[in-house]
Amino acid sequence: MSRTYFQPTALEEALQIRRDNSEASLLAGGTDLVVAMRHDRGPAGDLIDLSKIMELKGIHEISDSNHKAVGCIHETTNCVHEKAGSIRIGPMSTFTEIMESQLLREAAGILCEAAETVGSPQIRNRGTIGGNLCNASAAADCIPPLLCLNAAVELLSLGSDGSKCIRILPLEMFLLDSKKTDIRSDEILTGIFFQRSAGDMGFAFQKIGRRNALAIARLNGSCAIRLNGNTVTSLSFALGAATSKPERIESAEEYLKGRELTDEALTAAGKRAAEYVLEKTGVRASSSYKLPVIERFTASLIRAAAERKTEI
Ligand SMILES: Cc1cc2nc3c(=O)[nH]c(=O)nc-3n(C[C@H](O)[C@H](O)[C@H](O)COP(=O)(O)OP(=O)(O)OC[C@H]3O[C@@H](n4cnc5c(N)ncnc54)[C@H](O)[C@@H]3O)c2cc1C
Repeated sequence: MSRTYFQPTALEEALQIRRDNSEASLLAGGTDLVVAMRHDRGPAGDLIDLSKIMELKGIHEISDSNHKAVGCIHETTNCVHEKAGSIRIGPMSTFTEIMESQLLREAAGILCEAAETVGSPQIRNRGTIGGNLCNASAAADCIPPLLCLNAAVELLSLGSDGSKCIRILPLEMFLLDSKKTDIRSDEILTGIFFQRSAGDMGFAFQKIGRRNALAIARLNGSCAIRLNGNTVTSLSFALGAATSKPERIESAEEYLKGRELTDEALTAAGKRAAEYVLEKTGVRASSSYKLPVIERFTASLIRAAAERKTEI
């Protein structure tokens, strides 16, 4: 079987190839795609390699002067996009670049912590955050932190008249199910955005795998919490590898908001998380192991986030 390999050097060129070749697949670092192709599970069509496109790289804070001029914009909700003070990550940023970014260490430390746990140095040097989101594995390590940061994705396409069209979606709407996203066949993920996290919040990312290194998560999660004394004033809590896609666990969040963060409250929040997972997945062979682990993992993760900022 023959296929055409495109290697555009500019975003506009990539968008044109994508528009005119809807069967082609986008290739980022290849750590999911090429592995799947080698096992005959990958796409059979042409490949558009994104690695030479500088516009898709880089991590920076948006200032008033670098707002982009665009064609039409469809913002699905009132989510953060290129607002001054928000952070933009180019989808071709590798896990190593994320780990080593001083800006992200200060503005979104949990994302750096998640990137540090991915695969091995070789995988972290090749694998990209855009590939992690678009591959949409339930166990993808960068997704729970980005859900806690209320991240949004930017999807760009080119109309037949050459005009650019941008869709901006909250990450939780972009992720439809395991390995399914809301990306259209003519779109490319061109940016990931979120607001710099406030200094008075505590954050944590944790992961359980079969071993410490080179392990896909059996369970992962992240938490962002704000406390007034010992009372929870805001909480974002997301779990991965628990249901068919990483998601915020609102029942646990709502339970803890306005409560004292006691051991009893943490245990009760853990039970709510396990109940939610059971409701979504039904009873499975792994349930007798996984549900008690989810209960304790939830309590431990939220406690860890709280201890980062405040004594509890
Ligand atoms: C040995 C090994 C260990 C691993 N360990 C982990 C781990 O610990 N944690 C973890 O989360 N993952 C892990 N992975 C999975 C993988 O490394 C990540 O999911 C990685 O982020 C994929 O990125 P990539 O750049 O390699 O994507 P690719 O494989 O190039 O692409 C993945 C998918 O995303 C699409 N895509 C990529 N970029 C874009 C874009 N800009 N716009 C639209 N679509 C796009 C591609 O078309 C493809 O469908 C591991 C993989 C291997 C092989």
